Amino acid sequence: MVDTVLQVEGLTRTFDVSKPWLNRVLERDHKQFLTAVDNVTFGIERGETFALVGESGSGKSTIAKLIVGLLKPSRGTIAFDGQPMSFESGTAMRNLRRRFQMIFQDPFASLNPRWRVGEIIAEPIRTFGLASGADVHREVARLLEVVGLSATDAGKFPHEFSGGQRQRIAIARALSSKPEFIVCDEPTSALDVSVQAQILNLMRDLQDEFGLTYLLISHDLSVVRHMANRIGVLYLGRIVEVADSKRLFTDPQHPYTRMLLDAVPDLALSGRRRTPVTGEIPNPINPPSGCTFHPRCPHVMDICRGDPPAQTPTATGAAACYLLTEPVGS
Ligand code: SF4
Repeated sequence: MVDTVLQVEGLTRTFDVSKPWLNRVLERDHKQFLTAVDNVTFGIERGETFALVGESGSGKSTIAKLIVGLLKPSRGTIAFDGQPMSFESGTAMRNLRRRFQMIFQDPFASLNPRWRVGEIIAEPIRTFGLASGADVHREVARLLEVVGLSATDAGKFPHEFSGGQRQRIAIARALSSKPEFIVCDEPTSALDVSVQAQILNLMRDLQDEFGLTYLLISHDLSVVRHMANRIGVLYLGRIVEVADSKRLFTDPQHPYTRMLLDAVPDLALSGRRRTPVTGEIPNPINPPSGCTFHPRCPHVMDICRGDPPAQTPTATGAAACYLLTEPVGS
């Protein structure tokens, strides 16, 4: 039986990007909106790593912030373990939020530079009442060792560590509330290539040891291939394809997925005609009609400029493309 830990339904987030100063100068009341996340639906099973990939501006980091409660959805629902998440405070929601955490992209910005490492890791333990007194220090020491640091590091400040070590501290802090689910937002993109693999391997080991479920946000397909069981591909705020990781890399169905893969020489598939990378991601304030990928798509048909394509089932997931439903040339 499928054990879904996180279910996102119809998630939409719109930002008001009107320019009041320009409206004043031009004496008008012109509103502009940017839909960063548009009707996104997906589920994540317990113990798996589900990755969201896409170019910058695809909406993947906005989805991460919506899930951990840093942003409020404009529409749609997020349920954790079957319980709808609300943005009200309260004991039930506080207990629910303890069970999921976030690892941020930049370990330099995400750790308070004025706090010692021990205080940084102890704060969630105290906030959620998971230990008190000397037990807090023992738990901090244990967590530092779990992430490959030393208990004596608790007395140091973040600036005394390298980037990779700081990301280990951030992981220890994320683990300190004993979460089941962790959103990892580009967890290695700010790190030297030489330490990226060490952090990814640590995350995998911790997943096995603590039975964690990950939502991995990344623009780096090599990272995603190393980590993910299933992958969702985002384009201009919409999911255009979801598939098992292996299937996505060997048999991508959506032209945008093919374009992304073909842009990475190590991942480009042999024996298949390449989909060249063309054009830029359009302005999300004024997105193209229909399939928003149509201005860049080498297979565009008339129908693609009309209604957006629906998700069509594929071997291990779904893709939103008329090539899967329409005779070519329509
Ligand atoms: Fe290309 Fe049309 Fe498919 Fe969009 S729906 S990816 S434009 S073929």
